[in-house]
Amino acid sequence: MAQVTLDRVEKIYKGGVRAVNGISLTIDDGRFVVLVGPSGCGKSTTLRMIAGLEEISSGTISIGDRVVNTVAPKDRDIAMVFQNYALYPHMSVYENMAFGLKLRKTPKAEIERRVRDASAILGLDDYLERKPKALSGGQRQRVAVGRAIVREPACFLFDEPLSNLDAKLRVTMRSELKALHQRLKTTTVYVTHDQEEAMTLGDLVVVMANGDIQQAGTPDEVFRTPVNRFVAGFVGMPPMNFLEGALSRAGEQVLWRESASNPAQIVLPEPLAAHAKARVGQPCVLGIRPGAISIRPDAPDSLSFLVTVAVVEPLGEQTDLRLTTPSGVLLTARVPSVHGHMPKVGETVRVAIDPARVHAFEPGPFGRALDAPVPAEPAAGTPAETAA
Ligand code: ADP
Repeated sequence: MAQVTLDRVEKIYKGGVRAVNGISLTIDDGRFVVLVGPSGCGKSTTLRMIAGLEEISSGTISIGDRVVNTVAPKDRDIAMVFQNYALYPHMSVYENMAFGLKLRKTPKAEIERRVRDASAILGLDDYLERKPKALSGGQRQRVAVGRAIVREPACFLFDEPLSNLDAKLRVTMRSELKALHQRLKTTTVYVTHDQEEAMTLGDLVVVMANGDIQQAGTPDEVFRTPVNRFVAGFVGMPPMNFLEGALSRAGEQVLWRESASNPAQIVLPEPLAAHAKARVGQPCVLGIRPGAISIRPDAPDSLSFLVTVAVVEPLGEQTDLRLTTPSGVLLTARVPSVHGHMPKVGETVRVAIDPARVHAFEPGPFGRALDAPVPAEPAAGTPAETAA
């Protein structure tokens, strides 16, 4: 097992596409780290550079104590599982798992032990003689994972391994992968575009956009204290609501107001208000999670406003309400379903905002959270080694 370190790693493809922008990340030994972000954000390129399948333009990647920039993929002590499992169709499950070890001239008894161990862990004992075409999607996926496990690598790399499975199987396999990691504790780097998969699997969630790491934190950190509007909007389902407005002062309080003509306003709670004070008079985007909105006819004006119900979506225990503010912005609220007490389409209701769960951002799609720590200056160091 090993720590994986990326130091100012950059990838510029031929033709000048800047896919990864000089990112630094330390993945501690035994961690399960998920790189997540929208299509094209650079997550697969990053994984492929760790694997050695893609050359690094500048910076260094280390696995354990060794800089691997110029080390061939087969010598990096990693095992990769792809979205397309690429099993050999003419080989049995056993042979598929054993094949890589055979190529490495591993002794037969050792191959037998490792394949049997992996098969027992993955519940494949009854399928070892079958060919891949006689397996379900989930079983094939397990064989692909088995092939990685038998290598006993320092690090597992997963590239969207569940994308080809249907929604239900994806959730089951997700739990299996998590249980497997808890058992093997092998350092894992996992790429997905699915924020829910990232949140449920990762010890550390690394949110990427435009070739940069936007935030790396525990699932709780990226959800509760997103550093910018991009992370806030990407993590969490349904997504966070954003309301454009501006900050003003009323005595000692800092108010967020949608516009002068609209009475919708929120008194910012401490400690957010302390961060917002210096920005009074400037535009500010309020961020409100759907779960932080509740229907409260008796709520005080300072923490609530009137909205019109546009759509009601029952989800069983909860209901999603699409609500229109007086200025026409659509908000989503997720509220408990209370039989016989749900608002109807067209009704005007008063919604309250949980002040402890209000976020505030600078304007723009990557606007910084007003209470986010100021980013540290990049550490001075020797120029990054460049891959040959
Ligand atoms: P993701 O995995 O987040 O979807 P990628 O790492 O695959 O993103 O791609 C990042 C960026 O690099 C994208 O703009 C993509 O078009 C570009 N890119 C990926 N592979 C190549 C390549 N072989 N040549 C040129 N550009 C590439």
